[in-house]
Amino acid sequence: MIEKIVIANRGEIALRIQRACRELGIKTVAVHSEADRDLKHVRLADESVCIGPAASADSYLNVPALISAAEVTDANAIHPGYGFLSENADFAERVEQSGFIFIGPKPETIRLMGDKITAIEAMKASGVPTVPGSDGPLDDNEKRSIMLARDIGYPVIIKAAGGGGGRGMRVVNSEAALISAISLTREEARTAFGNDTLYMEKFLGNPRHVEFQILADSHGNAIHLGERDCSMQRRHQKVVEEAPAPGISEEVRQEIGNRCAEACRKIGYRGAGTFEFLYEAGEFYFIEMNTRVQVEHPVTEMITGVDIVKEQIRIAAGKELAYRQEDIFLRGHAIECRINAENPENFMPCPGPVTQLHVAGGPGIRFDSHLYNGYTVPPYYDSMIGKLIAWGETRQSAIARMRTALSEMVIEGILTNIPLQEDIMRDGGFEAGGANIHYLEKKLGL
Ligand code: ADP
Repeated sequence: MIEKIVIANRGEIALRIQRACRELGIKTVAVHSEADRDLKHVRLADESVCIGPAASADSYLNVPALISAAEVTDANAIHPGYGFLSENADFAERVEQSGFIFIGPKPETIRLMGDKITAIEAMKASGVPTVPGSDGPLDDNEKRSIMLARDIGYPVIIKAAGGGGGRGMRVVNSEAALISAISLTREEARTAFGNDTLYMEKFLGNPRHVEFQILADSHGNAIHLGERDCSMQRRHQKVVEEAPAPGISEEVRQEIGNRCAEACRKIGYRGAGTFEFLYEAGEFYFIEMNTRVQVEHPVTEMITGVDIVKEQIRIAAGKELAYRQEDIFLRGHAIECRINAENPENFMPCPGPVTQLHVAGGPGIRFDSHLYNGYTVPPYYDSMIGKLIAWGETRQSAIARMRTALSEMVIEGILTNIPLQEDIMRDGGFEAGGANIHYLEKKLGL
């Protein structure tokens, strides 16, 4: 049984977790930095604990402070949300060793998936399609690397096994550039991630980003909730997400989704997770697994009716999945626009006080956000201040509802990317569906 949860996060996801706990009758502890005393979920939580100064390193990433917050409040579980410590295997281990439930996979699973090479190996063993590549780490033998790249075919991409956040990778277009690219990436990986293990993959020129949501319990059950398309990106950051992905047939969805679920059963996965794929010319290529709830989970919730955060908590409490695969039906289409406090022209963050807030509403509209009138967006954290989600029977009606919703949003005092989102919702290429991961940057002239 879980009676009280420490929400080890901030902003909209902390509020999302707070809401799920309320619904389940679970008490909550909001932990926050000195700069975050006024967060909405801090006011709504049963208890709150200040865990340190504004800087994330001293608060949201401060493991001893988080553990002692759980101890002093007599909580019995910790929900890490996304970002911060959510994919940190050492943190998950510390949580469990301290006698608390970590709401997520086992530490060893996080570790397995956190190393891209072991993750790819585990996927291959379960029949999940991967990118043609080095099948393991690159060694120091230059000749072997040259032969390997010839076999794969140029362009190739050199990636750090411990990389993340779009860093630690380099595209190589020709043999002449290969060896120096390997040593440069190795050096970067050593400095940035303390791990200079590299591998090589075929570089896909114009893929889409399509990812599968899965849920698995600790009793060996695993299901998939279909896929999302997150190809609208800028600098590897997702801007718009939707579910289902345009043009994916039910047959393909079941085939890939079932393979992901099978992989979860094989590795003993527990909790919610996402299999990220590049999708090009009708083929799926696994790139990585996220072992946590995703920012874009609401679009899947809207078309399946499954509350992913509640399921995470139920699974962590040792319960069996509330759904079997046959219970999952996709209904309609959902789109999410990330709303950021930033200048829509130059993308510079724009923190500050929100002097007026009027939120969009109407059929099929959901706004997941911690904003309120008079709230001040602090400068220390991610600039995302909310997620506007629109559901419709068809993709076209979801887009139409999103346009209306964006036009109804009033956020004054700070600049937001709402004008950019309105532009995307009126863009012919977006409207057609199936644009690739470079589309938005090209449109923006980047
Ligand atoms: P990270 O963990 O840093 O996010 P990923 O492995 O998820 O790294 O890759 C991030 C992005 O880099 C992908 O979304 C894609 O845009 C690009 N990328 C990664 N691997 C390839 C590849 N083999 N071909 C083309 N693009 C790739």
